[in-house]
Amino acid sequence: MDLSFSPSERAFREEVRGFIAERLAPDVRAKLEALRPISKAELVDWQRTLNANGGWATPSWPKEWGGPGWSAVERYIFLDELHQAPAPEPLSFNVAMLGPTLIAFGTDAQKSRFLPRIANLDDWWCQGFSEPEAGSDLAAVRTTARREGDRYIVSGQKMWQGMGHYADWMFTLVRTDPGAAKKQAGISFLLIDMKSPGLSVTPIRTIDGRHEVNSVFLDDVEVPVENRLGEENQGWTYAKFLLSAERSNIARIGLTKRFVRAAKRAAHEAPAAARHRFLDKLAALEAEIQSLEVTQLRVLAEHGRNATDPRASILKLKGTELRQRASELLTHILGPSVYEAVPEEVDAFEGIDAASAHFTLRAASIYGGASEVQKNIIAKTILGL
Ligand SMILES: Cc1cc2nc3c(=O)[nH]c(=O)nc-3n(C[C@H](O)[C@H](O)[C@H](O)COP(=O)(O)OP(=O)(O)OC[C@H]3O[C@@H](n4cnc5c(N)ncnc54)[C@H](O)[C@@H]3O)c2cc1C
Repeated sequence: MDLSFSPSERAFREEVRGFIAERLAPDVRAKLEALRPISKAELVDWQRTLNANGGWATPSWPKEWGGPGWSAVERYIFLDELHQAPAPEPLSFNVAMLGPTLIAFGTDAQKSRFLPRIANLDDWWCQGFSEPEAGSDLAAVRTTARREGDRYIVSGQKMWQGMGHYADWMFTLVRTDPGAAKKQAGISFLLIDMKSPGLSVTPIRTIDGRHEVNSVFLDDVEVPVENRLGEENQGWTYAKFLLSAERSNIARIGLTKRFVRAAKRAAHEAPAAARHRFLDKLAALEAEIQSLEVTQLRVLAEHGRNATDPRASILKLKGTELRQRASELLTHILGPSVYEAVPEEVDAFEGIDAASAHFTLRAASIYGGASEVQKNIIAKTILGL
């Protein structure tokens, strides 16, 4: 199997690199390089810059809906260049999750209404899937939607909504048929305006003091039937599609490399004896990163656009593990003083540094499908156990 990039793919990489070098504000790049936060406005601004350049904010979208129509390999190169630059990634709730799902299952009216605003980050979306008793077992959602004429009346609690306090809209799963024989059968997929009366957002503070995740409470919230995606009670089908889109490109190898770069810089400042120890560990980590990268390229070479390749679970599992190890090594090299900088309470776009990133990354083996769940998938679908 030929895993090298073709001349046109190498030219594409140069084009992306050149665009980022020319258009990304140097202070945004410097902040990301130092693992510091960028502001919400800086993310919006960058996403709009990408979007205006032939739909680069929406790498997986077809040209028909404003995307660049890239191949899987081009998407991989683009993301790798963003991570390496480093440059911000477009908001994944908008462009990697909801956008492709709307394109696949939405009505023309929904696509025309929402897609341009999703791409341009005119509307900020959050994901309202999980609930206090429904995470890995997502089909156990209990939030109900009762049909009354041309609207649903929605009540329940959603949990862990990342950046939900910035969101204008939430895509969500609700139970429309509590009596269905299978729990997966009675679920619908709704698009809910966060300004709807009866909807409230409550912060959940994480260990690093940041406010990134939230609970969303819904108390008799009215949702027009036209804001339902696809058929009533078929929401599970659309949710599975969205989750598989979430897991493509999940290894995020470029991000891990960024941690390794920061760790190398720190290691070179350490006293000689410690320096050699740190550099040994970093070299071992880099070898594993390289082998994961080859696995990622093999999946891309064999399956192209197929986001449902079960090996996405290997990429998620191993990619998360390596990123966590890289951030652990970085904080270890920097020493205990990094934890002194962790503030009491900050917003999602503030306060990320080595220590905060270290804490935040603990959750990477939970969100997007917990590690144990990935192992179950690997055991069943790859190992045939
Ligand atoms: C930082 C963060 C951000 C998040 N953002 C969002 C968001 O924006 N929107 C959203 O909807 N959700 C979000 N989530 C929720 C996330 O998807 C869930 O936390 C995740 O699916 C796990 O569900 P749970 O928390 O209910 O844990 P559980 O499912 O209760 O799992 C608890 C433990 O049991 C293990 N386990 C569960 N089932 C099995 C099994 N069958 N076999 C073996 N082990 C098992 C799990 O691996 C885990 O270790 C976020 C979570 C976090 C932590």
